Formats: sequence, C-alpha cells, structure tokens
Amino acid sequence: MVMNSQTYRGRFAPSPTGPLHFGSLIAAVASYCQAKSNNGEWLLRIEDIDRPREVPRASDDIIRHLELFGFNWDGPVTYQKNRIEHYQAAFDQLIQQQRLYPCACSRKDIAKLNPFGIYPGTCRNGIPISEKSNLSWRIRTESNAVEFLDRIQGQVNCRLDLEVGDFVIKRSDGLFSYQLAVAVDDALQEISEVVRGYDLLDSTPRQIFLQQQLDYTSPEYAHHPIAVNSNGIKLSKQTFAKAIHEKEFGLAIYQALEFLGQTPPAELQFESVELIWTWAIRHWHLNDIPHYESIEVQN
Ligand code: GLU
Repeated sequence: MVMNSQTYRGRFAPSPTGPLHFGSLIAAVASYCQAKSNNGEWLLRIEDIDRPREVPRASDDIIRHLELFGFNWDGPVTYQKNRIEHYQAAFDQLIQQQRLYPCACSRKDIAKLNPFGIYPGTCRNGIPISEKSNLSWRIRTESNAVEFLDRIQGQVNCRLDLEVGDFVIKRSDGLFSYQLAVAVDDALQEISEVVRGYDLLDSTPRQIFLQQQLDYTSPEYAHHPIAVNSNGIKLSKQTFAKAIHEKEFGLAIYQALEFLGQTPPAELQFESVELIWTWAIRHWHLNDIPHYESIEVQN
C-alpha cells in the first residue's frame, strides 16, 4: 500500500529534565527517520507537564541542540504546559463516565502493601472523610487485556488490573499525570505512529487504555532498544554541551544510526549533517532495528 504524504505523523517528545544526551538523540533519530522516510510529518513536543522536575532552560537547550543536529520539525513546537485545558477536558469526561476515583494513598503506603508498586485498589470503594486532603485521582482498570502489535518488539498483552493496578490520572499536587497528557496529546495531534525507547513500553498499555476510554484512535507503536552503560543503567550523562563543530554532530547522528541497526558507510561519519540525513532517510529500515530492550554503549 502506498501511503499518501499526509497519512504519517510522528513526533519526538522530550521532557526538559536536562540537556539532550545520546539516549534521547537515539529516540529523536529513530522517530525522525521513520517519519521522513514515510514522507510524513514530525512534530516536536516539549513534555513539561511535570513542572517540579523541570530544569531551568532545559527546553531551550534541547531545541537549540536539535537545530544544531539539523532536525526539521513541522509546525510550531508545542509545550504541554500550554495544553492543560485539553487534559482538563479529558479528565472531566472520565469523571462523567465514573471512571475515576479519589485516592488518599501515598507512594509509601502502596510500597508497604505491594513491593512492585502495583496499586491494590485500597480507595476504590471510597476513602474515610477524615483523610480527604491532597488526593490523587485514579482510573479504574479492567480485567480484559490491552493488546497491541509493537512494530519492533512484537505482540504485547497487558492485564492492567494485575500488572499496574488503577493508575494515577491527576496527582495529589494537582498536576495531570504523564500518562494522561501523552494519551491526549498523541490522539489530538493525530500522531499515527509513536517511535520511542523501550523504557516506555510499560506505559503504552496505559496510554492505549486511556485512549479507548476517551474514544480516541490510538497510534501505532514501535519501541527501540535503549542505550545503557556497562552497569545496565540508562545513559543520561553523555550530552553534547561541548560539541561545537558540525562534524561532532554528524558523528553523533552516525553513531545513533549504527545503534539502531542501520549500516551507514564508514566515510559518512565525516560528512555534513545534511548529507548524513539524506543518506539516513533514503536508507532507513525500521526492520533492521534490533529487537532488544537495551544495548550497552561506551560511556
Ligand atoms: N517525555 C518522555 C521522555 O522524555 C517521552 C515520552 C514519549 O515519547 O512518549 O522520556
């Protein structure tokens, strides 16, 4: 089937919790090549919903680096902090559907009851009046499995009620949860495919479940392996703060392509970012991405 030019829409959605690093560059390169090789659009969304975790100037810094890497996004950059009305509307709809209930449990309370942090449903049937302060809101999960075919990792089936429990939609500090914001944004921005790291695979059934409750269409999903150090810890320190030459940016894209199972010719690593992108988009194969959870790289 030939896709028409407007059918595909992808996105890159960094959280401004620090500068762009090699781990986040991989997600940017994968989603960008997948969108551009499908003649699609690629949106940039800054996920600044979690205000307490935001690092000052990180958003601007990420955007500046993406420009230096030669990424071209379609339309204006969107910021979750400017989209609260959409999350509120989704929240109101779920309240109306009687899908949500207030919860007085702290993380510590839950950890005491379940070492894996699976919410045991303590407040499902109401909470004592005396405890009603700083409440979060949770969604009632169901016993039928959420199923989807990940384009890299294969079939995923998740029993949310057993594996996650009723999860938070609005936090006790009044902020909407990441799960709600992403489910709403991906649907309202009409993202057709989400390409992102394996560390978010766990979140996907929650986002699909929310989209189902809200009568939204879900995108397709593809979760690539994440880069870890020799201790198996996700890379987050290898930033590009010191890079100034185009060659250094080109080399990093080249390394991200290799990480993603693509086979750029050796001489390409010394070329301009423009040439590297031309090659990368023309030769991009999603099927060549290794089906692993993570791959170790030199720190
Ligand atoms: N904001 C998330 C992160 O930076 C990514 C969310 C997503 O791609 O859905 O880890």
